[in-house]
Amino acid sequence: MALAFDDFGRPFIILREQEKKTRLRGLDAQKANIAAGKAVARILRTSLGPKGMDKMLQSPDGDVTISRHLLPCFSPPYTCINKLSYRSLLLLLLFFLLKVLPCEFPANDGATILEQMDVDNHIAQLMVELSRSQDYEIGDGTTGVVVMAGALLEQAEKLLERGIHPIRVAEGYEMASRIAFEHLERISRKYEFSADDIEPLVQTCMTTLSSKIVHRCKQALAEIAVKAVLAVADLERKDVNLDLIKVEGKVGGKLEDTELIYGILVDKDMSHPQMPKRIEDAKIAILTCPFEPPKPKTKHKVDIDTVEKFQTLREQEQKYFDEMVQKCKVNSKLFLITQNINVDVGATLVICQWGFDDEANHLLMHRNLPAVRWVGGVELELIAIATGGRIVPRFQELSPEKLGKAGLVREKSFGTTKDRMLYIEKCANSRAVTIFIRGGNKMMIEETKRSLHDALCVARNLIRNNSIVYGGGSAEIACSLAVETAADRHPGVEQYAIRSFADALDAVPLALAENSGLPPIDTLTAVKAQQVKESNPHCGIDCNDVGTNDMKEQNVFETLIGKQQQILLATQVVKMILKIDDVISPSEY
Ligand code: ADP
Repeated sequence: MALAFDDFGRPFIILREQEKKTRLRGLDAQKANIAAGKAVARILRTSLGPKGMDKMLQSPDGDVTISRHLLPCFSPPYTCINKLSYRSLLLLLLFFLLKVLPCEFPANDGATILEQMDVDNHIAQLMVELSRSQDYEIGDGTTGVVVMAGALLEQAEKLLERGIHPIRVAEGYEMASRIAFEHLERISRKYEFSADDIEPLVQTCMTTLSSKIVHRCKQALAEIAVKAVLAVADLERKDVNLDLIKVEGKVGGKLEDTELIYGILVDKDMSHPQMPKRIEDAKIAILTCPFEPPKPKTKHKVDIDTVEKFQTLREQEQKYFDEMVQKCKVNSKLFLITQNINVDVGATLVICQWGFDDEANHLLMHRNLPAVRWVGGVELELIAIATGGRIVPRFQELSPEKLGKAGLVREKSFGTTKDRMLYIEKCANSRAVTIFIRGGNKMMIEETKRSLHDALCVARNLIRNNSIVYGGGSAEIACSLAVETAADRHPGVEQYAIRSFADALDAVPLALAENSGLPPIDTLTAVKAQQVKESNPHCGIDCNDVGTNDMKEQNVFETLIGKQQQILLATQVVKMILKIDDVISPSEY
């Protein structure tokens, strides 16, 4: 592309290789974009709600993820679809039907699926971004937001076919979204809880977890999530730093063995099997420098022609390392003397980012200084935050006040395997916590991590703003009725778009009913009629066949900010797609 000027100085743009590009204009462009967006939403529609189906995704190297999440919060990127063309979408749907049904651990969260599909189409990518934004801001509702955007696009297509200009549709949608936003506020209510009474928070997290694979253990996991959030929360400032919650997993054991550790968990063990497995009142030196005698570099040449010379070199190396060990211990001793504590304890633990060889390891064991090696940078930082210690990058800078303090450091082994982990508990700054997930296989652990992420976000959102709306599609139906009524007050063409927005809001309860095996239209009409008749905005879809469709009685609710965000984000992305009327893409050679 180049900017040029004609004879009169007017600028114009030269697009090179025009003949090699395909171009869609006007209604064709909008329809193609809408079709791409709808195709993505169609994939996720079947995953919505407690009875939603799960998707199975395979990475190029054969790893399998089964999930309902759209965005992988913790898992590595996978490639499932390279080009989201219509043909590949059909193949994908076929793949899901064949692969998903017989799987042992079904999962269905929207965010992961889209992210892992490696979508190539740019409009489809916008949908991925949409669910990513919802995940980033709120952490839950990632499937719902895409389903809603898909329904808005479907309705918009009908309006465009009737000859309504896309801008009028976009404006109508904007007005309708504001009406829905305000109506949500009207039907919301405050949800009271305190640090002593965590049951309400647990109930909310259970709603989130009930639509995930891990719903078998939803009570225990919800309690863990709430306790973890409360441990790091500042209730006065209504602030929660989720970075202080580390989620770790290890294959083995049962999901029920998942535990909350008030401290840090490091996937490492003591460097020598004979080092103590339990250290109380640990004073920890956190080193990022090598903890071993300096080795001659390969470019240096050391001539050793006699046994004596070799002995001297070895002794020097040992002496050097002994001094290093002594330095750690002496510093701690000084520190302990000033604290009037038993001076015999000495330095209790060294956690090191680097390794040390077997000889050094042996020496450490003999000098009674337990050590842990090859600890990752992220873990080191967390340990430093939790124990109130400082990371020491140069050995000479090690000083008593830089040591971290922990009430208990213990090594725990699992099963009959050699798997061991290090628990650092009762830390000086006890705000950092770890959720340690156990499960039968890697897939289960990854899915539990994603589900817990949602639960943690829901608890955090409630602490930030404790307004809630009821779920099961009840809030969407109430908003749909409100928007429908408001449409009559708008005399312009926008009223068609506003009505269509109301119809699109029905997509969520329709999908919930369909996924639960209920007749969608009949169920929705009955629930809508009930909402109008009883003036009760809490009537939704009884997905689990509890016997009542009052979501207040069923205790199914979502945070107000989460639902509002869904409506705002879906509207924004649909408006953006509608405003594109020219698609230029390189044609395939
Ligand atoms: P998302 O990723 O959008 O959170 P989910 O698959 O978790 O998608 O489904 C969430 C939807 O399921 C929400 O509309 C919520 O109200 C609804 N839902 C969750 N549990 C129930 C339930 N027990 N009964 C009815 N609806 C439920």
